[in-house]
Amino acid sequence: MAGLSLLELRERLGLIKRAEARLAAMKTAALGEYASRGGEGLARRVALEELQASKQQARREVETASQFSQVSETLDALGAGEIPEAHAKQIAKAASLGPVDEAVLVEAARREDFGTFSKTLRDHQHEQSGDDGKSLMAKQRQRRELSFFKSSDDGMFVLNGRFDPVAGSRIEAALADEERRLRNDKDSADQASFNQRLADALENLVCADAEDRKPQGTTLILTANWDALNQKLAGARLLDGTPLPISEALRLACNADVLPAVFDTKGQQLWVGRKYRSATEAQRAALIIRDKHCIGCGRSATWCEVHHIDDWSKGGPTDIDNLVLVCTSCHHNIHDDGWTVHRNPNGAYELQPPPVPYADYPTWKPKPNPPPHDREPFPDTGISTHRPALKQPVLLN
Ligand SMILES: [Zn+2]
Repeated sequence: MAGLSLLELRERLGLIKRAEARLAAMKTAALGEYASRGGEGLARRVALEELQASKQQARREVETASQFSQVSETLDALGAGEIPEAHAKQIAKAASLGPVDEAVLVEAARREDFGTFSKTLRDHQHEQSGDDGKSLMAKQRQRRELSFFKSSDDGMFVLNGRFDPVAGSRIEAALADEERRLRNDKDSADQASFNQRLADALENLVCADAEDRKPQGTTLILTANWDALNQKLAGARLLDGTPLPISEALRLACNADVLPAVFDTKGQQLWVGRKYRSATEAQRAALIIRDKHCIGCGRSATWCEVHHIDDWSKGGPTDIDNLVLVCTSCHHNIHDDGWTVHRNPNGAYELQPPPVPYADYPTWKPKPNPPPHDREPFPDTGISTHRPALKQPVLLN
């Protein structure tokens, strides 16, 4: 490797990607053939022994192989090294859940990175379902499960679950809310890591006494368009872009305060000025709709913190146009490493790194970013404890 130029190293990676795809196709084809001749049970055992897989992996490998046997075009593209394994697996799984147009998906898989492709696939599944995604949602809901058991290794309990997109988003929002509450609670601001606080949040939510259990203040944000021509809602989505059947959106709306967000009027709740340092609940909801995710790295908005573009300590106001959503890691990039907030030509906010010093100097190495949760959240950037009740429509500029 030492003798290769940067260009050659890059080409090497491309070659590895294609080789991995071909190997994956060979593996899945071999396992599929084995299963069709010897049965799935035997195929699982062979995967366990020959691939030295865990029981779970072996089960998944055989399941994947049987899904691939239904999508020949995808398997061919994988075998030719044209699409990555992860993309191909997603197509095979989608095809097992409902109708898909394989040719369209394989073509998208050739061009798109994994995140973009996942969105393309979800939209495609929704369109192809023929019933506004209802059957797809029903199938996903059928696959829900939770396992909770005491590990024989160390006596710790292990929780593992799978939820449909709506249930999952509700749980995520509730956990994120409780995690923020714990973080802002000065008494408990000890050395707990993010993942530890998340475990505490789950315990609190599950084990709260009946009388302590207040109505959940959790905000689950959905967006939809108003089809003025036909006088009805259309294009309902979860925050992460997952399309929802309108019937599902209406069901959720029945049990919720609906906050229409209008992006052209100045509302008092979003311009707090110097009254509170922390973002209000209304501001947070508005930011989540405007920025959609961390403006630096795209991490889910549910877990993001609110950053003052003009520093609060230097007189910056808590006004919606002085606030952006960032994840913990990107928040540290701003405060510790000199990253700055900019607006791109489309009006969206983004983060830019500081200029690289001595980039051409051979011994210079960029400072690696620690993984997101090694860094602790900023303590006072959650929801204000003096938050005004969120009763009126949220108005955004
Ligand atoms: Zn981020």
